[in-house]
Amino acid sequence: MQIFQRYPDFIADSYEFPAGGKYGEGYYIAQKFGVENPKFGYRFHLGEDWNYVGGGDSDYGAPVYSISNGIVSVIADYGGGWGKVVRVIHKHPVPETKNQFYYFEALYAHLYTIEVEPGQMVKKGEWIASIGDAGGAYPSHLHFELRTVSGAPLGGGYSFSTDGFFSPTKFLIAQVSKEKAIHEDQFGPAAVEKPATAP
Ligand SMILES: [Zn+2]
Repeated sequence: MQIFQRYPDFIADSYEFPAGGKYGEGYYIAQKFGVENPKFGYRFHLGEDWNYVGGGDSDYGAPVYSISNGIVSVIADYGGGWGKVVRVIHKHPVPETKNQFYYFEALYAHLYTIEVEPGQMVKKGEWIASIGDAGGAYPSHLHFELRTVSGAPLGGGYSFSTDGFFSPTKFLIAQVSKEKAIHEDQFGPAAVEKPATAP
C-alpha cells in the first residue's frame, strides 16, 4: 500500500471504539451493520450508526476517535446524505504470522468538524473529528464503516451486497475485549426518542 511507504512501521496493533472513549461508554448502535433498511429499498446498511444514549442531537460535536494507528487518506465534504467524511487506512497484522499484514479502511461520516489532514498519521484514540448531522440531514450520529478494500468509491451507505465491508462492532469487540469484556448486546438499540437513520 503506497501510502505506507513513508511509515512502514505504523501498524494498527491495538484498537479502541470510534466514540465514547476506550470502552464506547454512553454510546449504542442505533442501526447495526448489515440491517435491511426499508427506507433504502431493503438494501443492507454498510456501516454502523453510533448514537449517544441521550438520543436526538445529544452527541452533536462530541469527539470521534481514530480506532487505531493509521494514515488519513481522504477528507472531504460531500454534502447531501454524507456530509463531511474522513477515511483512514490501517495496516493490520495478520494473526499468528510474522511480518504479514492486510490493509483496511475506516470511514467516518456525517461529521461536524474534521481535525486531520490527508496523509497525516493518526494514533489510536486520537481526536480526528466531531460528530455531526450531515448538514441537518439526520439527528446527529456517527456513520462508521470498515472496508476491506481501501480507496474504493464512496458508494451510498447501503447496498444489496455487503461485499467489501465488515461489521465494525464485531471486529472491534474481538480486538478490545482482551482488556475488558464487552458484549455486542451492550450496543443493542437503546430507548431513545429519536433513533437515527442513515447512512
Ligand atoms: Zn448509517
